[in-house]
Amino acid sequence: MSNISNILLIYTGGTIGMIKNFETGALVAFDFDKLLLKIPELKLLDCTIDTTSFDEPIDSSDMNVDRWKELGHIINSNYEKYDGFVVLHGSDTMSYTASAISFMFENLAKPIIFTGSQLPIGDLRTDAKENLITAVQIAALQKKGKPVITEVGLYFEYKLLRANRTTKINAEHFEAFQSLNYPSLVESGVHLKVNTSFLRAVNRRKKMVYHTHFDNNIVVIKMFPGINEGILKGISSLPEIKGVVLETYGSGNTTTKKWFIDMLAALIKKGIPVINVTQCAGGSVEMGKYDTSVALKKAGVISGKDITTEAAIAKLMYLLGENLPLKVLKTIYETSLRGEMSEN
Ligand code: ASP
Repeated sequence: MSNISNILLIYTGGTIGMIKNFETGALVAFDFDKLLLKIPELKLLDCTIDTTSFDEPIDSSDMNVDRWKELGHIINSNYEKYDGFVVLHGSDTMSYTASAISFMFENLAKPIIFTGSQLPIGDLRTDAKENLITAVQIAALQKKGKPVITEVGLYFEYKLLRANRTTKINAEHFEAFQSLNYPSLVESGVHLKVNTSFLRAVNRRKKMVYHTHFDNNIVVIKMFPGINEGILKGISSLPEIKGVVLETYGSGNTTTKKWFIDMLAALIKKGIPVINVTQCAGGSVEMGKYDTSVALKKAGVISGKDITTEAAIAKLMYLLGENLPLKVLKTIYETSLRGEMSEN
């Protein structure tokens, strides 16, 4: 018989726990203990739940590297004590935080499930209850006394997705997230259907390694027709820049204008990694497929393959924090570390 899971529920903020400020009409973060009173159903679950909260719950638009670390610290310092973690987080930047957390925890052997909601928990039509209750149930799943999920997941509207594969795609629908390049890990219907073959396998002989260095001296440049040479040159010559995520067209294409390619080549020559990710919601970068990306490959641009921009940013900050020579960073970047990109 399996043990009963011990889950730590961590509240960081977000709509799920917000109430209306009657003066401004805007939603503001609410007290976590009061929030729990709104979900007595949690007591009926077949697991024990302890709770903790950010000292000051936030709208996730105010997330930053320090708060990623605050959350990482809560999980790391409780890692041995609990069988799984559920993180309540605003949906706006949930994919970024969850991606960052996936890079923080190498050889993760326990579930870290992010969830939130589009409507506050006190709202009659709220999606918060289902999201929270099922996220806890998924985190508590066991097989032979061990957690079933051993990765960072994001649960929203009846699906558990690999968190570092997700993007928020809708500001209104309950189905707010999508993972176009990787299938769902769990589907919630009458039963919880676990898609075992898509889960990340864990090597329990390897110890979990906790990483905390993130270098946020980076910039995201989104390609658009009419992109301005003067402005880009200004940005790329800033002395602080240590890395660039380039959001390109389709399968990794950019303008072929000489000034643009020369600018990227100069950055790379200075040891600054430039990552090619596609602006498309699904599909992969394939440099060299079209003539418009041949020069990028030649200049040494790194392929983000089918990574999301959210995970690309977190991965770049993480690898810059590891202080690697550019050549090594390129090889590691183009390798899947936490299931964030397809291997080929
Ligand atoms: N603005 C909110 C946040 O991200 C939206 C949400 O929670 O869904 O914190």
